[in-house]
Amino acid sequence: MENTVQSLISLQTAWEHISRATRPGPVERVSVAEAHGRVLAEPVLASGDYPAFDKAMMDGYAVRAASVASAPCTLAVVGEALAGYASDVRVGDGEAMRINTGAPLPPGADAVVPVEATSPAANGCVQVGRAVKAGKCISRRGSIRKASQKILAAPIRIRSAQLAALSTAGVTSIGAYRQPRVAIVVTGDELIPLGGSAKPGQIVDSNGPMLAALARECGATVVRSAVARDTEADLREKLADALAGAEGGLAVAVGGMSMGTRDLVPGVAEGLGVRWAFHGINLRPGKPTAYGIGPAGQHVLGLPGNPVSCAVCFLLFGRMVIEGLNGFGRSSPPMIRVRLSDAIEASGDSRPAFLPAMIGLQDGEPTARLAAWHGSSDPFGPGAANGYVHQPHGDLAINSGDWASAVPMPGLLDDWTA
Ligand code: AMP
Ligand code: MG
Repeated sequence: MENTVQSLISLQTAWEHISRATRPGPVERVSVAEAHGRVLAEPVLASGDYPAFDKAMMDGYAVRAASVASAPCTLAVVGEALAGYASDVRVGDGEAMRINTGAPLPPGADAVVPVEATSPAANGCVQVGRAVKAGKCISRRGSIRKASQKILAAPIRIRSAQLAALSTAGVTSIGAYRQPRVAIVVTGDELIPLGGSAKPGQIVDSNGPMLAALARECGATVVRSAVARDTEADLREKLADALAGAEGGLAVAVGGMSMGTRDLVPGVAEGLGVRWAFHGINLRPGKPTAYGIGPAGQHVLGLPGNPVSCAVCFLLFGRMVIEGLNGFGRSSPPMIRVRLSDAIEASGDSRPAFLPAMIGLQDGEPTARLAAWHGSSDPFGPGAANGYVHQPHGDLAINSGDWASAVPMPGLLDDWTA
């Protein structure tokens, strides 16, 4: 181990370690029906021209532009072109065909006169009030994409718009990064599951469910979620199982990372072949965080058990691993500049700090409101927050109205690649 928990590395150095060690994961074929939330690993090319036929973009009349050059004029209506049907009736000089948006342009026609520019005339005719140029209100075959042009670039997370693009192009499967596997072991003799009855000194495990949800929000699949007692034997068994489950992904051990007499995780992990790259970050909360590589190349994160430390550090470090495996390699987690609507007080601790905050928009400007909380052992502050504001020097106050950096919960900002 390069560091003990007493020799702290900087946040920046911790990110550099993780960034250097994280490569995009393997790619697999995924059916588009299952692709929501996955990350596209390969560009998707159009299999054919789009549109596949010259298509009306307005409800109106398909005409030859030459027929309406001296509008107003009256044209004979020769039929109706509907969406979903190719017409074989030809539109000749002096003729028009009623056409609906999305219908293929009938042969002979080269423009659509919007219905608003027409009025009915006697004897099955239509009066056209103004001239149109050839190509008017038509989307030409291949005008948006020609066959084999790119329709989606990688990496990008498959959300609603990407599903629409894939469906439009008739693509039924994509190359996506295999969902990063995350295995979680929370540790502590004091932990009971939600719904269990607590004996004196026992508490409900909140980190297990929190981390599983957060890992999924970051784009991972959770393959193991175990609780280990504070004994070497139980911890070894659960951690070994987590390492096996997290092959190619990330194993997270929570609690037991610090200097207590039952803080067994670092040593037991080493015994299982984990090589820690660092243990101890100049950070509040989250000082005892460790990161290393497991015997099969898994990423391994050791997080403090304190619920807020655990959440902050997963957001700062675990998320980078998951996003890196998902093709979004980056040198630090996504942070945004926000205007503070509250002052941040000096804490008397010089470590860089992260404080739970609600990030939103005030008159269109990114703004953060600090959540009320009682410090890192208070799990309820983050319950009123959607991210964390960064205080670079804990002993320097920041004024209300000043700008600061903030880490939002996973979401929209994740697709950005520098
Ligand atoms: P540790 O890092 O194991 O020393 O734990 C630090 C604090 O976090 C202690 O008060 C623990 O009881 C608490 N803690 C540890 N693990 C969890 C957990 N999974 N859920 C809730 N609290 C926890
Ligand atoms: Mg513990």
